[in-house]
Amino acid sequence: MSALKITGLRASIPGREILRGIDLEVESGQVHAVMGPNGSGKSTLSHVLMGRPGYEVTGGSVTIDGVELLELPTWKRAQAGLFLALQYPIEVPGVSLADMFAESFAAAGRDRASVPALVTAEAERIGFDARFLTRPLNVDLSGGEKKRNETLQLGLLRPKFAILDEIDSGLDVDALRAVARRVEAETTETGLGVLAITHYSRLLSELKPDVVHVLSGGRIVATGGAELADELERTGYAGYVEDDAEVEVMAHLDDPFADHLA
Ligand code: ADP
Ligand code: MG
Repeated sequence: MSALKITGLRASIPGREILRGIDLEVESGQVHAVMGPNGSGKSTLSHVLMGRPGYEVTGGSVTIDGVELLELPTWKRAQAGLFLALQYPIEVPGVSLADMFAESFAAAGRDRASVPALVTAEAERIGFDARFLTRPLNVDLSGGEKKRNETLQLGLLRPKFAILDEIDSGLDVDALRAVARRVEAETTETGLGVLAITHYSRLLSELKPDVVHVLSGGRIVATGGAELADELERTGYAGYVEDDAEVEVMAHLDDPFADHLA
């Protein structure tokens, strides 16, 4: 049994605090959903947990089984068992999925010769084309293919905890079901703990959340069971934001073409 423990996490970009004290604990096999309006800090939380540059952590702690992650570079966080499926997966020309898996398996002391068979089996489970193995990572893939690619990596790398940042965006209904089922299976097969950022309860109809959190203005403002996700889908976030106008202004920032993190 492992635990991902986030305590009092605060993070800023120059001139502005985005995360204003986050407390959250995910245990092995649990699914925690994080929902919240655009611009509330959901992706920032995922980036800060994984150690993406450009954010200053100003307080708090993030541990897996007592090991402090905030002091570690990203690759060591991955070795400690953390995985992030990005909201906007990046394209990496010149590096194939096969190269990436070969390196990750070697770093984890696993047999890299087992990669092709594992990829074929995983690809089948989520309807991903195994031919993408030899192509440059994410280059020229559609939005949905990129999300399946992230899921494939999750299945092969077998982390202890996975953060899924809007894994459902860009997926059609069938792909969404396959991806959600794949992740759900991992929670029972290997005890994966999941932090699933999403706007839609349809992801959560297959990937069953134990706990649902509402993130607004960089804080968790409500926590409940699966019924909270259904309520949010019906009523929106209006009851959970201090200032509706702020949400309006920030709405455009989730536009995938507005690459505000570039
Ligand atoms: P969400 O994922 O909940 O929609 P984000 O975490 O992407 O929200 O963003 C929260 C706020 O922080 C937004 O106003 C966003 O523009 C801003 N932000 C996040 N990262 C950066 C960055 N690296 N540079 C400038 N602004 C950023
Ligand atoms: Mg986001």
